[in-house]
Amino acid sequence: MADIPGTARVVIIGGGVVGVSALYHLAKAGWTDCVLLEKNELTSGSTWHAAGNCPTFSASWSVMNMQRYSTELYRGLAEEVDYPMNYHVTGSIRLGHSRNRMLEFERVMGMGRYQNIPMEICSNDDLKAHYPFLETHDLEGGLYDPTDGDIDPAQLTQALAKGARQMGGKILRFCPATGARRENGEWVIETEKGEIRCEYVVNAAGYRAQEVGQWFGRYVPMVAMSHQYVLTEPVAELEAWTAENGRKLPLLRDVDSSYYLRQEKTGFNIGPYERNCKAHWITPDDPMPDDFSFQLWADDLDRIEWYVTDAMERVPLVGTSGVSKIINGPIPYTPDGLPLIGPMPGVPNAFEACVFTFGITQGGGAGKVLAEWITEGGTEWDMWSCDPRRFTGFVDQAYTTAKGMEVYGHEYAMHYPRHFWPAARDQRLSAVDTQVRALGGQMGYYNGWERAAWFAQDGDDTSIEATETWEREGPWQKRVAEEVGGVREDAGILDLPGFSRYHVTGEGAAAWLRTLVTGVIAKPGRIGLLYFADDKGRTVTEMSIIRFAEDDFMLITAATAQWHDLAWLERHLPEGSGITITDRTEDMGTFIVAGPKSRDHLAPLTDADLTQGWLTHQNATIAGKSALLIRVSFTGELGWEIHAAPADQPAIYDALISAGLKPFGMFALDSMRIEKGYRAWKGDLSTDYSLLEAGLDRFVKLERNDDFLGKEALAAQRKAGLAKRFAMMTIDIGDYDAPYMSTVWKGDEIVGEITSGAMGYRTNKFVALSVIRTDCGEPGTALEVEVFGERRAAVVTGDEALWDPQNERLRA
Ligand SMILES: Cc1cc2nc3c(=O)[nH]c(=O)nc-3n(C[C@H](O)[C@H](O)[C@H](O)COP(=O)(O)OP(=O)(O)OC[C@H]3O[C@@H](n4cnc5c(N)ncnc54)[C@H](O)[C@@H]3O)c2cc1C
Repeated sequence: MADIPGTARVVIIGGGVVGVSALYHLAKAGWTDCVLLEKNELTSGSTWHAAGNCPTFSASWSVMNMQRYSTELYRGLAEEVDYPMNYHVTGSIRLGHSRNRMLEFERVMGMGRYQNIPMEICSNDDLKAHYPFLETHDLEGGLYDPTDGDIDPAQLTQALAKGARQMGGKILRFCPATGARRENGEWVIETEKGEIRCEYVVNAAGYRAQEVGQWFGRYVPMVAMSHQYVLTEPVAELEAWTAENGRKLPLLRDVDSSYYLRQEKTGFNIGPYERNCKAHWITPDDPMPDDFSFQLWADDLDRIEWYVTDAMERVPLVGTSGVSKIINGPIPYTPDGLPLIGPMPGVPNAFEACVFTFGITQGGGAGKVLAEWITEGGTEWDMWSCDPRRFTGFVDQAYTTAKGMEVYGHEYAMHYPRHFWPAARDQRLSAVDTQVRALGGQMGYYNGWERAAWFAQDGDDTSIEATETWEREGPWQKRVAEEVGGVREDAGILDLPGFSRYHVTGEGAAAWLRTLVTGVIAKPGRIGLLYFADDKGRTVTEMSIIRFAEDDFMLITAATAQWHDLAWLERHLPEGSGITITDRTEDMGTFIVAGPKSRDHLAPLTDADLTQGWLTHQNATIAGKSALLIRVSFTGELGWEIHAAPADQPAIYDALISAGLKPFGMFALDSMRIEKGYRAWKGDLSTDYSLLEAGLDRFVKLERNDDFLGKEALAAQRKAGLAKRFAMMTIDIGDYDAPYMSTVWKGDEIVGEITSGAMGYRTNKFVALSVIRTDCGEPGTALEVEVFGERRAAVVTGDEALWDPQNERLRA
């Protein structure tokens, strides 16, 4: 019988690579009083049968960071813990069948270079040199990543376990957790062999994470997909080649055909992500068994036959040997294919590190991130991409299954900037959705809410194929320019459902909010834009705070931030304070009305006092319906936000359209906000930057004589000076917009990164927001920005808006 400790600081449920890495990293951080519970033997879930591929490649900056960290850790681990491991750093090649694919490679290579991953673009001849058995006649080229390779997943897990144990971590095998309950501010984790009381608990149960989540009242959004790889018999020619060259072939990914092909000893391993994929354990006739440890599903060669044949044509050597074995195991997917790492939504002191699609290559980094969440309350790198709170209340199993299958079938697909994936759409619809679509609205989704990205006119190509491009040019471009023109010259309207809103009220609410915001809260009757910093002074979030009365507020924030920002507020609310926070997101919808003539259009429809100044709010009637009018504008033009109950919105929208307001979409809004230098959450505003680095100095009131979270850190940073900071710039752009994390160059040195950029249709310039080395921030400094592999000339314009820097139009 396992020796069950009665207490521990942290209990981790699940002994796959991720749970064990979490234990290792907690121990490394000095948290050694931690226990890992494993139902069966370590690795018995998905880990034991994983192919073990370890790419660093990712189109996501944060995921690439996590994977890079893993590979660096794995390289030194065997020696560090004295546990020999098979880790072959063979390099990898990705094949490009199209110009678009080569552009994706250029973009990822740019990010890789910034993370010291020396990827290289390959010609077909280069590909042949890396991989002589390859057919290249129909390829455009490829990408070589020397840091890629494969690792034995079981050995990796055992090495991490050994390291964790050496530092004091405890692992209990064959000891399933059977339940959890909250008692006196602690968690009690139940097992068949006794109970453990602990401060923190981590769900690292892999494909069983949903089952474990239920004990906490948490729906874990995941679906178990069947993933197969085929192992071939040894290939004599490959054996001879390896002996002669002293190396294995690099890992090959034919991403357009959708499979990986790896040398496994002297044979091959072919693993497809097939379009006609299969999800398991989602219907009553296919329940998840109580125990699936070390088990596999039956082979299903039919499903992957096309891919295996394609691999034989690509590398004819593959076809010279027979199949020796097929592995068909569960691989869990979230709706966007990225894992869940971070706080368990709505549950105190509980965390998730589960639903990993690429847990072998991400396990190392994930353990670090999870340990930081627990020990420091936040992470070194901004990890919103993997934060469990990115999926909010609308996400159910039908949605998760549909999206999970879509992601699996497009695992290697390119994510174009104006493409919205089609599965499981229309989850959350605005009250005026029908009217918006009738006007030509081409919809995109934001935390499940459908919003118009742009408005098509008769004859415009609105097919999904038209959006499969990196180029700015497309059917939308002319319309976006016209929409911006409408706002600039006259007035426009944007239906913006899904703003997250929280009602904060109760005696002491103002005093409490002051402890969290870096600026000054407005007086009753007014509204202010306020920032929330963490203890390191980094930007947690931005909210518009409407003050109705001394201690009565409405806080408005981004749609996607709904659960994140609520959690931040609740985490800092003192127990028994009497202050209440209520999520009122669904109670109201929002229209943005903007443009120099918006007052003229609104006046006949409302009894509101439209002379009230900027940053005020008032209750009024519009088109006979009640609404809250707020004088703010994300476009930089004279304007109002009109907040109204969904039932009243259709009448108001109709009246405003009839009054001559022109509909505009999210693409136009993005273009206008960037010209004004307005930051967007989790691009420009993230915990990767402090408020000062993000150029938000005017929102940081260090002279305030009371304390607020992050004040000390920000004061210290201001005193010490900044190594990097926010700057706007214009770029002599080509056909492609500069994406997030495009690198900024001065001569041969990278001096910073772009956080967002868009064509400005009022300034007729491509405008970008960046964070760059302070010494490069002088207005007029000539720099270059790498955009899809091409260096484009850029000029720093400082941190002043390019459009209406004095805010005269805004205050008109
Ligand atoms: C065929 C195949 C090939 C793959 N190839 C790759 C690859 O090449 N590269 C890559 O990065 N990824 C690959 N993967 C994915 C990879 O296997 C997973 O992402 C990874 O193993 C997940 O690790 P984990 O620790 O999150 O989960 P798991 O390994 O599933 O571990 C979870 C553990 O939790 C335990 N557990 C569950 N419930 C309880 C409970 N109540 N109490 C105690 N313990 C519990 C389970 O027994 C299990 O051991 C592949 C997957 C498949 C199916």
